[in-house]
Amino acid sequence: ASVGTSIQEIDPTKLGITKTTTPKGLLPPEELIFGRNFTDHMLSLEWTASQGWLPARITPYQNLSLDPATCVFHYAFEAFEGMKAYKDKEGNVRLFRPERNMARLNKSSARLALPTFDGDAMIDLIGKFVKLDQRFIPEARGYSLYIRPTMIGTQRTLGVGPPASALLYVIASPVGPYYPTGFKAVSLEATDYAVRAWPGGVGDKKLGANYAPCIVPQMEAASRGFHQNLWLFGEEEYVTEVGTMNLFAAVKNKETGQKELLTAPLDGTILEGVTRDSVLTLARERLEPQGWKVSERKFTMQELADASDEGRMMEIFGAGTAAVVSPVRKIGWKGRMVDCGLPDHTEAGPIAQQMKDWIEGIQYGDEEGHPWSYKL
Ligand code: PMP
Repeated sequence: ASVGTSIQEIDPTKLGITKTTTPKGLLPPEELIFGRNFTDHMLSLEWTASQGWLPARITPYQNLSLDPATCVFHYAFEAFEGMKAYKDKEGNVRLFRPERNMARLNKSSARLALPTFDGDAMIDLIGKFVKLDQRFIPEARGYSLYIRPTMIGTQRTLGVGPPASALLYVIASPVGPYYPTGFKAVSLEATDYAVRAWPGGVGDKKLGANYAPCIVPQMEAASRGFHQNLWLFGEEEYVTEVGTMNLFAAVKNKETGQKELLTAPLDGTILEGVTRDSVLTLARERLEPQGWKVSERKFTMQELADASDEGRMMEIFGAGTAAVVSPVRKIGWKGRMVDCGLPDHTEAGPIAQQMKDWIEGIQYGDEEGHPWSYKL
């Protein structure tokens, strides 16, 4: 096998479970803040280069104990995932396309010389962990359990090299609807003075090291009244993605008037979003027959501004696990404001609304038997 890509066996039947003796109280659902509260337990697997994956353990949620010289603290050997579990009308717990998150974590880990693992075995283990803590998932629509698989290098050394030991752990945080009172369209600042990712880099991997350097530009955008950065790339000012979302634009073709739903291609500089793939697949399945063109292609900020100026801009929205879709009202660019086509007093365009309804319908099991919904 080539360097860093061998899949290493996990035996889910060897799972050991130590339950908490001090179960937490449940917060009233409306008091949940994203990523602040965690469930009773965590799932952990240790790996060593000589022994491979050791048996998985579910334990009470607890601190890690790591030597200050552990390589994750010095050289950022860290990759993570973000996925959710949902409770359906019958009280069943469902994951959404979990194999995609496992595949992405394996790609991210491999790029850092961290171990890979069998995705199906890991889904099995995550399923057991989530079921054990399922009382934390509020029943109401829009609520879910955010699941954070995390892979770190744990070798105790300041030497720069491939970690000889690693820890894969999973924690979970109950979350409320991203937009508790209905959609709220956001504003983006097209960022040209800083670069999130570049060809040959690691922007398509979910590494902690990709996120920390984006906070200062995010604060700068916020200081000018914008919610998020829209990362541009290169002299052409190609539109790539938002802080934690992929971006979609619905525009009418200048010559033919054909409606086109476009998003940036997977050229290595943007994250391969699970929601992005879901939007594309549903658009090809359900919008193309209505005359839409669905494109993964490079497009520039100028192209969006022209569409806006010429009245061809229909709508723009971000797509990601947290909000499913996030409508965009305007984009600040070169001292001007590009209007994204939302009428005043309207918080979402029809395609964003449709996509949210379709995807949530699958996530919450309303669309019975859909292959993307993984019933535990
Ligand atoms: N881009 C970035 C940079 C992200 O962090 C995320 C969130 N994982 C996304 C896009 C959306 O990906 P997904 O749909 O898998 O949540």
